[in-house]
Amino acid sequence: MNKALILVVEDDAPVRNLISTTLKAHDYKFIVAPSGENAIMEAASHNPDIVLLDLGLPDIDGVEVIKRIRTWSNMPIIVISARSEDTDKIEALDSGADDYLTKPFSVEELLARIRVTQRRLSVMQAGASANDSVFTNGSLRIDFAAGCAYLNETELHLTPIEYKLLCLMAQNVGKVLTHTYITQKIWGSSWENDVASLRVFMATLRKKIESTPDSPQYIQTHIGVGYRMMKVE
Ligand code: CA
Repeated sequence: MNKALILVVEDDAPVRNLISTTLKAHDYKFIVAPSGENAIMEAASHNPDIVLLDLGLPDIDGVEVIKRIRTWSNMPIIVISARSEDTDKIEALDSGADDYLTKPFSVEELLARIRVTQRRLSVMQAGASANDSVFTNGSLRIDFAAGCAYLNETELHLTPIEYKLLCLMAQNVGKVLTHTYITQKIWGSSWENDVASLRVFMATLRKKIESTPDSPQYIQTHIGVGYRMMKVE
């Protein structure tokens, strides 16, 4: 498997060295950027497969870096931030980040996030070349054209909202979607803050797709942030 080219954006030299050393030890190719402006320049000239982005940068804020990159590229961005507050994670995700990691993090955790992102990339690439109208993940299958979802080849009886929710999660497999993003997509902006309704629909959807809804295999909860559909082998 071709190892990805990773852009490491971090102003703190010890953290940057830790990340670089880890990537090098696992045969990843990488480039580093110590500031936001530098990161945008490197992203534009090298078109990396994944960006690891610190939010607290000396020149421009990491969220601004995400917004600027998103004007011309969908390259996966994993935010690495010391800010443990949910609002910062949510702002970064709503600006277009794919995932987040909170400092201090373990090297294993970092490598796991990179692997999840790589799987998401390969799913997206496979999806683009194969039949776009069918989505498969583990025992779950969605036939978008027919508007039907199946688990172990048995048709699921989903309400229109549950089906919409399942499709949205599937179309963003591997990516953390915030409560605001999901409610806007499902109900439109007037329902923006109705996280309680979302929880109810998510619970009924899980009862239908998860064999053990208390330890879900398909849809992961990110407490205070949102949900993510995992790629199931
Ligand atoms: Ca920093």
